[in-house]
Amino acid sequence: NKLIEFKQVSKQYQVGEVKIKALDGVDFLINEGEFVVILGASGAGKSTILNILGGMDTATAGQVFVGGQDITRFKDRQLTAYRGEQVGFVFQFYNLIPNLNALENVEFATEVCSDHLDAKRILDQVGLRDRARSFPSQLSGGEQQRVAIARAVAKNPLLLLCDEPTGALDYVTGKSVLKLLQDLNRDTKKCVVLVTHNTAIAPIADKVIKVRSGRIESVTINTNKQSIE
Ligand code: ADP
Ligand code: ADP
Repeated sequence: NKLIEFKQVSKQYQVGEVKIKALDGVDFLINEGEFVVILGASGAGKSTILNILGGMDTATAGQVFVGGQDITRFKDRQLTAYRGEQVGFVFQFYNLIPNLNALENVEFATEVCSDHLDAKRILDQVGLRDRARSFPSQLSGGEQQRVAIARAVAKNPLLLLCDEPTGALDYVTGKSVLKLLQDLNRDTKKCVVLVTHNTAIAPIADKVIKVRSGRIESVTINTNKQSIE
């Protein structure tokens, strides 16, 4: 079942007199429950795609359907609600609130949501039951990213969007974070869209969307998807 559709999506940034075409007629489909990797070099337009999908940025042309609704037609209030309730975001540098502990970081994110999951149980699920009272500065990078993932899924969003989630982690820690994302996708059937420049991550996805200079270069289905041990 189709969950997301980009139709001829373009994005132009205006910097002074200069127009920068970040996306140029981007089309792709994502199905319910899919684990998708958006792959491309730096500057290709990956983050722009993710930000538009997450309602954090707006397209200058085209349509973006999520669950049958065209989010490019949303009024500000609808977009804010969409972003707050339907989208969980995971960033490269975790973006935790430094003066809240792990549990509070997760609870804080769910406060505005009517439909959210128990923060303690989610921390347990990401393997951080014993670190609930730790502050971000007391956690390793991998642990901070686990808190960020817990925070993102605690509000029970439709989509989990990850922008270079392993970009600041060493190989082994990064792999364990990817395994967590893969397990979450498998167990909750939540759609995961992960943006990276790292081609080594592609095999763990159901679908790989390659982006180059603001255009889709290819869309590949992994018939032999690799499960992380
Ligand atoms: P990627 O995530 O693949 O590295 P981005 O989506 O961040 O690529 O950027 C795509 C293009 O859009 C790049 O040329 C980048 O410089 C430009 N760009 C991104 N954000 C902005 C912005 N806020 N203002 C101007 N140009 C931007
Ligand atoms: P990594 O090698 O993954 O970067 P660290 O060496 O930073 O990890 O941390 C190793 C362990 O020590 C982690 O479990 C982390 O939570 C814990 N730790 C690191 N710094 C602190 C601190 N200031 N207070 C409490 N625990 C800490």
